[in-house]
Amino acid sequence: MLSNVRIERTESPKTKPNPEKLGFGQYFTDHMLLMDYSAEQGWHDPRIVPYAPLTLDPAAMVFHYGQAVFEGLKAYRTAEGGAQLFLPERNAKRLNRSLERMSMPKLEPGVLTEAIQALVGVDQDWIPEAEGTSLYIRPFIIATEAMLGVRASSSYLLAIVMSPVGAYFDGGLKPVDILVEPHDVRAVRGGTGAAKTAANYAGGLKAQAAAKEAGCAQVLWLDALERKYVEEVGSMNVFFRIDGQVYTPVLNGSILEGVTRGAVIELLEDWDVMFTARPLSIQELVQAAANGTLEEAFGTGTAAVISPIGGIRWNGQLYPINGGQVGELSQKLYDTITGIQRGMVRDVYGWTVPAVAEQEELRAGV
Ligand SMILES: *Cc1c(COP(=O)(O)O)cnc(C)c1O
Repeated sequence: MLSNVRIERTESPKTKPNPEKLGFGQYFTDHMLLMDYSAEQGWHDPRIVPYAPLTLDPAAMVFHYGQAVFEGLKAYRTAEGGAQLFLPERNAKRLNRSLERMSMPKLEPGVLTEAIQALVGVDQDWIPEAEGTSLYIRPFIIATEAMLGVRASSSYLLAIVMSPVGAYFDGGLKPVDILVEPHDVRAVRGGTGAAKTAANYAGGLKAQAAAKEAGCAQVLWLDALERKYVEEVGSMNVFFRIDGQVYTPVLNGSILEGVTRGAVIELLEDWDVMFTARPLSIQELVQAAANGTLEEAFGTGTAAVISPIGGIRWNGQLYPINGGQVGELSQKLYDTITGIQRGMVRDVYGWTVPAVAEQEELRAGV
């Protein structure tokens, strides 16, 4: 439970951005939520304050040893004018797994979702309405102790900021090509790949730039030990349909467990689609692409939901998938998940949660 969140409202609300030009993560709402951790008091003093720069000591441990974890989820405007979150408790559980891996203090159950609902309540007029748009929510936790000794910090800051974001795909799903990264690896078993921690992304930027240079939208990461098995695509999990069977790499300790991945697996099982999580070698996949049995491939993540893959570039050769067309299953998964998120498809799975706590709705006269 989150106790008494102090709310300090801004006296100068910002002008809202053009809803047709939101892009991703460029604009931020009027408020942010902050909460402190100290060894003596634990997590304390949750407060919603006007969005503003943070002041940190230059010796704050996050700048030196990288204790920083984050989450990403969205609030969606529903057809009836309400707002809902998608599986926020799974983000909360993953945040705790990330915190534990990075020697950082965990949050009590319910705290993250309640903090998000409180903040969305204050800035609910920032949730955009057009199809495909949403309010992206970015909780993060950083080490704040001013100290250069190498050990875990004794103090931390939790912050939540929110950004209205545009449609990932304008005018329908668009397959993209991906580049199999031959040199760099994203993560290694025993490392931090299963945690949503900042350094994993810094280490991936070089390969991402190389992919762009090769005309590909994303990197397809291979495992670090054998450079043989596929792990993820960019910062998305990845699925393949071969001969009517759907596969995704099995969680092996270096793969980030996506919330979208979990929802896709539940749908496949509910739809009686044959599904297996197992190691998938790049050799097996390009062979299937070459002989036409690789029917569909797609990435899954909060930003795009489903991102169809049009071709795999490996060893200087492009292996097209499904003639570069969006697959039937990719489209059905996309329509179902986005439909549930927007309240257009009945949520028989219990995946959605109100984005605003009830008292806040009353206060705002909703
Ligand atoms: C966040 C993330 C994902 C996708 O997770 P979702 O919860 O589905 O958004 C996949 N891989 C990596 C590396 C990520 O950071």
